[in-house]
Amino acid sequence: MTQSTVALVTGASSGIGRAIALRLAADGTTVIAAARRADRLRALAAEADGTIEPYELDVTDRAAVASAVDDIVARHGRLDVLVANAGVMPLSRLDAGLVDEWDRMIDVNIRGLLHGIAAALPQFGRQERGHVVTVASIGAHEVTATAAVYCGTKYAAWAITEGLRQESPPWLRVTTISPGVVESELADTITDPVARTAMAEYRRNAISPGAVADAVAYAVGTDADVDVSEIVIRPTRQR
Ligand code: NDP
Repeated sequence: MTQSTVALVTGASSGIGRAIALRLAADGTTVIAAARRADRLRALAAEADGTIEPYELDVTDRAAVASAVDDIVARHGRLDVLVANAGVMPLSRLDAGLVDEWDRMIDVNIRGLLHGIAAALPQFGRQERGHVVTVASIGAHEVTATAAVYCGTKYAAWAITEGLRQESPPWLRVTTISPGVVESELADTITDPVARTAMAEYRRNAISPGAVADAVAYAVGTDADVDVSEIVIRPTRQR
């Protein structure tokens, strides 16, 4: 009997993570959909007819992320794919001084990724099989005004993921997905009025999260000896 691939998708309660969970589940993967909003995850699991398991998780809590991986391995015997997607984007100019929001971005977008990597790598090592997929951003490649800290966290996510790829044993697959503007709830985390107005205009060209899910499904679905190292995916109209 062929075993189903088991994937943990963080930030799966909305937007890109939700679309990735649905797409991987449709491809036959056992998906553990993780985020803080358990009600959203339960609705997602119901929509997917039992192929998605909800898992309430705050990625800023290192011990909770480690426990989540332990629980998954206890229930399914393995973990094949970590999709580190959870992220927040409360944009603002640096002179607005919203230091708590900078900290939040660092905690979720950088520490959350590291917590996932720290939890998954030992299990991947025991299996001699595994795949880390990081959802970074076009903001990992260019900086824009009001996005200094957000881009800083995404440059870091890119660097950490690329460093992992360079250090990885020959069986570990590592992928960075860098989306441009995508329909989601991401801009809802912006409290600064200047950044919020600018972002409303910028997001008018957004593409569907399903386009990013397709890219993740492609990277996950290739043969084990193929590493799709990075995909940049953005609206055709986005410069
Ligand atoms: P959403 O706001 O729709 O989704 C963000 C997800 O992250 C939610 O499921 C949220 O769930 C989860 N999340 C936030 N904080 C935590 C936490 N502490 N622990 C666990 N989960 C958390 O936005 P997107 O779908 O757009 O964002 C997904 C990723 O894509 C992010 O990393 C983002 O930076 C990246 N990205 C998005 C782009 C876009 O234009 N949309 C462009 C480029 C990159 P909950 O609140 O339930 O915990």
